[in-house]
Amino acid sequence: MKNLDKISIVIPCYNEEDALPVLYKELDKVSKDMNYVDFEFLFVNDGSTDKTLSIIKDFSSDKRVKFLSFSRNFGKEAAMYAGLEHATGELVAIIDADMQDPPEMLKKMYQIIKDEDYDCVALYTKNHKDYSLMRRFFTKCWYTLIGKISSTKQVAGARDFRLMKRKMVNAILNMKEYNRYFKGISNFVGFNTKWLNVETDKRVKGKSKFSYFKLFKYAMEAILAFSTTPLVIAALIGLIFCLIAFIVIVIIICKTLIYGDPVNGWPSLACIIVFTSGVQLFFFGIMGMYLSKIYLEVKNRPIYIITEKSDNLKGKNL
Ligand code: UDP
Ligand code: MG
Repeated sequence: MKNLDKISIVIPCYNEEDALPVLYKELDKVSKDMNYVDFEFLFVNDGSTDKTLSIIKDFSSDKRVKFLSFSRNFGKEAAMYAGLEHATGELVAIIDADMQDPPEMLKKMYQIIKDEDYDCVALYTKNHKDYSLMRRFFTKCWYTLIGKISSTKQVAGARDFRLMKRKMVNAILNMKEYNRYFKGISNFVGFNTKWLNVETDKRVKGKSKFSYFKLFKYAMEAILAFSTTPLVIAALIGLIFCLIAFIVIVIIICKTLIYGDPVNGWPSLACIIVFTSGVQLFFFGIMGMYLSKIYLEVKNRPIYIITEKSDNLKGKNL
């Protein structure tokens, strides 16, 4: 029998009871169309509180289905990492459970990897149909900002949906950092990547798991993980303040020597003190954020904890 390529599809799931049956049906259809490839569907239940896990178990009569279940919600980054760690295919894809990224793209992605010898085929989108006007605006601002302040290349509108060769997956797994930002990490490791533009769809069922607060936290973590620019800005502003202070001191000394000194200017002095201490506290805060990330890295806590996994999944953790 001919040895087929194997594609592992990693699906991070958090409260996706409504979307999963639709996704599974679609993946099954795609796999039938791609009968020249073996498949493994690796569902990672990220501490769901709904029926997600039992729905995944219902798929288990299909031997290609495997699952991991976390002891609590560790976040999408942890779910993707766990999926990559347990995937066994020579090719690995990550796909959201909500069908926003079209699974049938896998055919094209596989063909490109085979024919054009890329290490990765990744998708980006220019329109996020599912996002509100405000989220689209912030997403745009975000990519402009991170593109400017990070030395790692960032692709605007990048999705997590991508198909990677094993060597790229291994490079990603070698980055064991606790504060993870997959879009940054996958660009950091390099490799020959082809970017395809796709129209993302509306989420098939359920609601987005990212509130504005969660997105803000995620964005902050990405900045802290992939840029030291805030620290450089803090240092530069400190330098500018020192220069201004020096000039003002010279002016005051000259004025005093030439005109004598009636002591005045208390209100402006008070304003300056309040302003500069505000700036100092702000930048202490920034330093504190970097420090807290170092603290978390040093503690070396596990990125995820598994409570249950399918019998057909051998390997780490449990
Ligand atoms: N997800 C997860 N853990 C979380 C949040 C989300 O595994 O803490 C999964 C979710 O089930 C989905 C994917 O990550 O498969 C993307 O989430 P969502 O569609 O809510 O994000 P959005 O498309 O709004 O950015
Ligand atoms: Mg989504």
